[in-house]
Amino acid sequence: MQTTSTGPTIPFFTQAATFDAEWDGIRRHLTDVLDDGKFSHGAKVAEFERELERWTGARHAVAVNSGTDALVLLLRAAGLRPGDEVIVPAYSFIATATSVVLAGGVPVFADIEDGGYGIDPAAADAAVTARTRMIMPVHLFDRPADMRGVARVARRHGLTVVEDSAEAIGMVADGAHAGLLGAGGALSFFPAKTLGAIGDAGAVLTGDDAVAGTVRMLCHHGRGGHTLGNFPGIANPTVLPGRNSKMDDVQAAVLLGKLGRLGADIERRAELAARYDARLRAVPGVRRVPGDVPPHPGTGRAVYVYLVEVDERDALAAHLAVRGVGTEVYYPRPLHLQPCFAHLGHRPGDLPRAEAACAAALALPLYPDLPDADADRVCAEIESFYTGRRAR
Ligand SMILES: *Cc1c(COP(=O)(O)O)cnc(C)c1O
Repeated sequence: MQTTSTGPTIPFFTQAATFDAEWDGIRRHLTDVLDDGKFSHGAKVAEFERELERWTGARHAVAVNSGTDALVLLLRAAGLRPGDEVIVPAYSFIATATSVVLAGGVPVFADIEDGGYGIDPAAADAAVTARTRMIMPVHLFDRPADMRGVARVARRHGLTVVEDSAEAIGMVADGAHAGLLGAGGALSFFPAKTLGAIGDAGAVLTGDDAVAGTVRMLCHHGRGGHTLGNFPGIANPTVLPGRNSKMDDVQAAVLLGKLGRLGADIERRAELAARYDARLRAVPGVRRVPGDVPPHPGTGRAVYVYLVEVDERDALAAHLAVRGVGTEVYYPRPLHLQPCFAHLGHRPGDLPRAEAACAAALALPLYPDLPDADADRVCAEIESFYTGRRAR
């Protein structure tokens, strides 16, 4: 028989208290939207774009309806042509690779680095072919990928760098916000992300006027409705149909109301991560805590997901679930072994580091609302799991 929970539930993610704390600001922005009555391409989206530019230091922020569409539009604006190959890491959220397909390209998978979760520059270098046009590093969980290594590969082969910075708000590399080292980066404001909307939303960050202009046109039917073709970001002019990928003003209002506390939220996330690290690194069965993974030179962390690698991952997750502690597996299946990429012919064992991470990684509750006492209880439940295993 299953035992019942030993304490109140600790959800994997919630932001109820965050909304309470920020409600006055959010309500003020939402009231503007209601009074304006436009709801789509009203003034709030532009106001949010300017604030996001200030916060990130980006020359341009273009607000869109999801991180996924941010990636698709960025790839197209950065000059991806039909059939071009884009090198992506094999360990990431599925949208890293499907966005390439949706933009008309072909994803080519490279393994991740030894001892970390970013793309391995040497593996990326080895994956370059005559058809490779771009490389797309992903900044996962709490730290940027090896951007100096990626830049070297890109320079050697003349590739455009496009960043999947969906998880990376607050992360920096060589003095620039994540997403600003190459042609541009995509941010996601999915509700559970570090800066979360009350639905889906995303943005493109870029320092390139032409890329920003093309994303703006593509996300709104080709500005004005019918202007197709000759987009300034496309080296070889081609006709690109526009689409509707705009951010809603309601989401912009909520994000504006929360942006003011983002710095404090990121600090609280760092505090909780350090608290987990200090206790969990001593637990036999916990193989790796994030604080023990050395950052790449010149990079700054911001903890979105707190991810440990553990023995008997699935049994631990089940043990925690019974005790009311929510966890998530990031990511259950590497991209090269996803059914939608079966036609590329990969086999288990092809990209062993990505496959090993999928088998051992478990994300624990971490968000500004989480009290210290709950983080301590999560640690105690993990300790009790491994103590029980050893005693048998
Ligand atoms: C969340 C996420 C995306 C997609 O963002 P959506 O807003 O959910 O479309 C893409 N890549 C990574 C790495 C993500 O974590």
